[in-house]
Amino acid sequence: MKPTVQLSIIVPFLNERESLPELLRQLRQAMDEDALHRLFTEPFTYELLMVDDGSTDGSLEWLEEQQAAVAELHILSFQRNFGKTAALSAGFRFARGEYIVSIDADLQDDPFAIRELVTKLQGGYDMVSGWKQDRKDPLSKTLASRLFNSVTRRVTGIPLHDFNCGLKAYRRNVVKMLDLHGEMHRYIPVVVQWNGFRVAEQPVRHNPRRYGTTKYGISRVFPGLFDLLTVLFITRYLKRPMHFFGMLSFLSFITGFGISLYVTVEKYLFNQAAGNRPILFLGILLIILAAQFLSIGLLGEMLTRNHRSTPDYVLKRSGDIPE
Ligand code: UDP
Ligand code: MG
Repeated sequence: MKPTVQLSIIVPFLNERESLPELLRQLRQAMDEDALHRLFTEPFTYELLMVDDGSTDGSLEWLEEQQAAVAELHILSFQRNFGKTAALSAGFRFARGEYIVSIDADLQDDPFAIRELVTKLQGGYDMVSGWKQDRKDPLSKTLASRLFNSVTRRVTGIPLHDFNCGLKAYRRNVVKMLDLHGEMHRYIPVVVQWNGFRVAEQPVRHNPRRYGTTKYGISRVFPGLFDLLTVLFITRYLKRPMHFFGMLSFLSFITGFGISLYVTVEKYLFNQAAGNRPILFLGILLIILAAQFLSIGLLGEMLTRNHRSTPDYVLKRSGDIPE
């Protein structure tokens, strides 16, 4: 499908009733800016795709009342709370824009920064991630997110300061390729860059939360780090699990074999009893683990061949090649 508007703005929200009126006002004002319109050659059109992630505070009802007056406003809603990742993913699926921007609903992100993100996209990037350079959140959150960002930066080698900013902009083909699960919205830049797209960052203004409460406390740090492990595995090894488990198996076997050899040599050459030595059990354990890793790797390979999945590449098409 061809894009039918220039810009889609996706707003995931959960119980943000008090913020919504101001948010809607600010977003519409930002979309009315001439400076934004001048970035496009064709007449500027946009859509506001608000995704209700199971709110129970009347947010959805209030928004629905506004639809008659705001032609650009479209609403998707979940039956229950499925999480921010799911809300973004639904928004991406139905977005009709050439460029797609996500923004939080709590007024912490600045709608007027959207223009800067789009400008950067037009400079040749596929995705631009906001950077809350001066983050206005309690210290506990700021510290946790520092830790999270620096671990992610080190492990992935992607030099972003802020992986989890609500404000992000994408070219259409990027979001249509994304396959998000769990709580993976934190790692979108990682997945995007691993697929060979160019990712940039742009400092954005950040406001303290005015209404409502945060949905992501400090308890999210550990799940977040486990998600990093999953993302690393999925992006690097999903299509070749044997390379991952094979390596573990190899290391485990070599160590286990070395230990067993050592114990055996000591027994027969130096007459040392082997049966009561703790290290013997470590050796045996490692060899058994090696066999298990190898079988998991093989099972993984069988799974990747059996389930019909998307290809392992992302490509551009030029000329008239139908889907
Ligand atoms: N949000 C959501 N579903 C959830 C949790 C949060 O749609 O399960 C929305 C929330 O309404 C807000 C954005 O995601 O628009 C970011 O959440 P929040 O402000 O609580 O996170 P923080 O800024 O504190 O990290
Ligand atoms: Mg927030």
